[in-house]
Amino acid sequence: MNNTELVAQINRLKKEKNAIIMAHYYTRPEVQDIADFVGDSLALAQVAAKTDADIILFAGVNFMAETAKVLSPQKKVLIPAPEASCSLADSCPAEEFEKFVKQYPDHIVVSYVNTSVGVKAVTDIVCTSSNAVKVINSIPADKPIIFGPDRNLGNYINTVTGRNMKVWDGCCHVHEKFSVERITELKKENPEAKVVAHPECKKSVLNLADFVGSTAAILDYVKKNESKEFIVATEVGILHKMQEECSEKRFIPAPPEDDKCGCNNCDYMKMVTLENIFETLKNETPEVILSDEIIEKAKLPIIRMLEIF
Ligand code: SF4
Repeated sequence: MNNTELVAQINRLKKEKNAIIMAHYYTRPEVQDIADFVGDSLALAQVAAKTDADIILFAGVNFMAETAKVLSPQKKVLIPAPEASCSLADSCPAEEFEKFVKQYPDHIVVSYVNTSVGVKAVTDIVCTSSNAVKVINSIPADKPIIFGPDRNLGNYINTVTGRNMKVWDGCCHVHEKFSVERITELKKENPEAKVVAHPECKKSVLNLADFVGSTAAILDYVKKNESKEFIVATEVGILHKMQEECSEKRFIPAPPEDDKCGCNNCDYMKMVTLENIFETLKNETPEVILSDEIIEKAKLPIIRMLEIF
């Protein structure tokens, strides 16, 4: 089937099965175009909690589909690319994180949503890059905090809030690899361009940025800012939405340190295709299956986050 036929078949199946497709900003353009909702982790978690659909097909990496299942345990949650992992989530194995947490029993444990359900199960409050600063500021100043798994986001929050959180030493291979030298060159070549960066980037990259924020916050910034050019230091998939919403502006993807690594492109997110969405919806498999026990444990810190906002 060509893409037009696939899109028609996917739309037919969605209607027949009362299914919705949720897609992350970093997925392929054609996947974002077929989705009912495109967003960042927080928006997708909130939609998952509210939808009346019988089936949620999650176009993203597996921790996102797990999170949707935790919030909608009675629904069938399908994941077209179950092998789509996340280097950040993988940098924080649940057993190791639990040992780390046990070393500091008086600490509040805050975890970024990019974690497995096992990590969420030993977490007090989940956060996203959109709300991380607010979540930390909601915790009394005298309470010590453990933050995991992203060291760059954790250190950025420490700087912004003045806290001294104990930060797990994990990172995302995409955001870690943006090149300071090449962004500096791009700034010289495009002196009018504003640099926007995700807080998962290294501090040396954040120091070059005119704006630091979550993917959704960056999108909002480029829409409202009067500048016509932006150098974008986050996963390149977001440029599709930026160009769609701001056709008169120019977006320049920030380059990685090594072109061969293709590191401004998350290979995991690109594993979701129209073909595997069609097959998954047709066969209603692969499905995310989690035990009731892990759902209950992982749900609490997510609910606490949603209650803060
Ligand atoms: S961009 Fe990084 S944090 Fe996001 S899914 Fe890919 S590997 Fe994980």
